[in-house]
Amino acid sequence: MKKKILRIFIPIALLFLITESLHTFVPESDKTNSSILKVHIIDVGQGDAILIESDNQYMLIDAGEKGMSNIVIDYLEETGVNELDYVIATHPHSDHIGGLADVIDYYHVDKIIMPDVVHTSKTFENLLDTISENELKITKPIIGNEYTIGEATFVIIAPNSSYYDALNNYSVGIKLIYKENSFIFAGDAEKESEYEMLECGIDLDADVLKLSHHGSTTSSSQRFLDAVTPSIAIVSAGIDNQYGHPHAEILQAIKERKITLYRTDKEGTIILKADGENIVAVTSRQRE
Ligand SMILES: [Zn+2]
Repeated sequence: MKKKILRIFIPIALLFLITESLHTFVPESDKTNSSILKVHIIDVGQGDAILIESDNQYMLIDAGEKGMSNIVIDYLEETGVNELDYVIATHPHSDHIGGLADVIDYYHVDKIIMPDVVHTSKTFENLLDTISENELKITKPIIGNEYTIGEATFVIIAPNSSYYDALNNYSVGIKLIYKENSFIFAGDAEKESEYEMLECGIDLDADVLKLSHHGSTTSSSQRFLDAVTPSIAIVSAGIDNQYGHPHAEILQAIKERKITLYRTDKEGTIILKADGENIVAVTSRQRE
């Protein structure tokens, strides 16, 4: 079923004001009826930081480079996060986990999900130290394991193997489901991992796909796009990044499939609001 997509431009700051004032006037009983799942793709330049919000429960997937941790924490504060029910550190590259140590020091975290792989970088060692200082126990991703976040659920779809040459392929992948709406996030998973996801026995059909590896040609294979058939694709990438992300071939594939694309390098932070049937996108900048 094709989902209706609305493209709305409201400055994020204004959005908080609107949300705040609405809360003041909406009666308690109406609040439950109008419950929505929000997915915030936070603009952290070249990197990933995604906040998922359902019924006052929160999950953070990655937190950009270390220098971005203040931006992420400020954003979470502004959104009203008091604690994080889940943190997913998709894989040990610094553009994903760099900001996480500060976030974990700042917020109580209930569960942290990380792939079973070690990396010798200072950033990764620092994250492990912070995890143990905060007495957190790492949960390893197991395919098919399901978790609840507010009124939504998510299931682990990657990684499917225990050894890869490329660190990107260790990326934790999830399918997030809220009523009729679904989303796929898989860090920087490349084609090798995508092909395994196709065989993992979980239906990958989803409304929204966060393009893995910032829209690089290492990922978003034709077969994977054919299986997910998203109506919305998201790219999280830095303006004029040195890797040329997102790559032209991927943009072309997205265009040919008539998928609506949102990019943090063009539109800043993107909020997807899902009511269980339709998804509305709100961006903080208008695309030039
Ligand atoms: Zn990355």
